[in-house]
Amino acid sequence: MDLPPPVNTDPRRAIPAIHELAREILAENPGIPDWAVLEAVQQVVGEARNALAAPPEEVGDATFPQGKEIWLERGLQRARELAAEWPRRVLNATGIVLHTNLGRAPIAPGAAEAAARAAAGYSDLELELGPGRRGNRLASLCQRLVLASGAEAAYACNNNAAALVLILNTLARGREVIVSRGELVEIGGSFRVPEIMERAGVRLVEVGSTNRTHLRDYAEAIRPETAMLLKVHRSNFEQRGFVKEVSLAELAQLGRDRGVPVVEDLGSGSFEDLAPFGFPAEAYVPRRLSEGPDLICFSGDKLLGGPQAGIVVGRAGPMASLAKNPMARALRLDKMSLAALHWTLGAYLSGRAREELPVLRRLLTPPGEHEKRTRGFARVLRDRVQEQTQSLEIEIVQNRVPVGGGSLPGFEIESWAIALVSPGGAAALAGRLRSGAVPVLSRVRDGATLVDLRAVDNADEPLLLESLLGLLH
Ligand SMILES: *Cc1c(COP(=O)(O)O)cnc(C)c1O
Repeated sequence: MDLPPPVNTDPRRAIPAIHELAREILAENPGIPDWAVLEAVQQVVGEARNALAAPPEEVGDATFPQGKEIWLERGLQRARELAAEWPRRVLNATGIVLHTNLGRAPIAPGAAEAAARAAAGYSDLELELGPGRRGNRLASLCQRLVLASGAEAAYACNNNAAALVLILNTLARGREVIVSRGELVEIGGSFRVPEIMERAGVRLVEVGSTNRTHLRDYAEAIRPETAMLLKVHRSNFEQRGFVKEVSLAELAQLGRDRGVPVVEDLGSGSFEDLAPFGFPAEAYVPRRLSEGPDLICFSGDKLLGGPQAGIVVGRAGPMASLAKNPMARALRLDKMSLAALHWTLGAYLSGRAREELPVLRRLLTPPGEHEKRTRGFARVLRDRVQEQTQSLEIEIVQNRVPVGGGSLPGFEIESWAIALVSPGGAAALAGRLRSGAVPVLSRVRDGATLVDLRAVDNADEPLLLESLLGLLH
């Protein structure tokens, strides 16, 4: 008796050939580049093979496609992801103007044009056109920084973390830097003051306790090995209760008395005084400088509203040493950021910063104006949504938003938002809003999905409306 031929159940045999899959996807989708299709097919087939090799309990049903259509679909989707432009544009409806995950400060259109011009063509970046000799890429920028801040001198590098490393390494390498225990902060997980100091080659001397540091704590710690008194702004948290910190003015006086340089990492600073608008006074760089520190450093893309950069302002002596440190070359600012920052400083010097810079415009929108705009938008949204669905509730609520980006901890702006309440839940709706062609970023609070227009341009309102309507059903 003949036995029936053995049935080969090895699912690997069901995997189509890579080149065949790629050819079919390309034939149907001529817009997607070959490299993306080939890589996508290799990835999805590779993942399926790995899944087969894994122990059965780790292999879900979904990991191994059945049928060619599914292979084609998976390959196409992966190819689209690989070929997609990045970073993708999103609408920031969180109300948080300096959103760290969304690229922090958006620069002014004029600054973006200046950056594009510098990037796409040749320029006198490091050339003095008159004599035709080599120039300094920071000269013109530093002139503007000096004018805007009132400082003796200025310097700029890649970002504020780099500025702090450069300052520490230049002025205190191999020596001691005194910092209050209450200011040994971590910013964004990858930036911790003690670790930065170690890498910069300086010895950290902690003084005071977590909640209280007195002037005498600094004074008693000063030794011949002391190279600097450092103050670090607590950018992303607040201390309340039984607390004592030494003011910058007191610290600067101590430094002068004892002949030790005083440096402040301010984190976020501006050349526009925002105190009249209720913002903390210390963010105004000229005022901070008047307290008498030797150097202050801060970010270009926080409150300042410019490109990513680290800005240093202060006394000419220590400033001159920064540029001479060989590390300065590794931390230098690129031509696009230089051009954008130069333009941004021009807006401050002309007194047009509040109109021209999106960050300031959005932060300073008067509450009444913002409420009116929010109500108007909600009315249109409600009318249009009613045609589609009854199940969504749309309300106007008062909102409070942080400035974001590690700026001004504990300080919140009075704002307004459109609260969407959907039967599926707030987090699910927020997820849906992120999944559109132009993703919309919202915030979830008290069971509602909040859409705040503060950080959305007027010109983007129709796009926001269409995105919401496309997703709210
Ligand atoms: C944000 C911040 C930094 C880091 O600045 P980057 O420009 O992001 O490098 C450093 N110190 C303080 C106090 C900050 O707030």
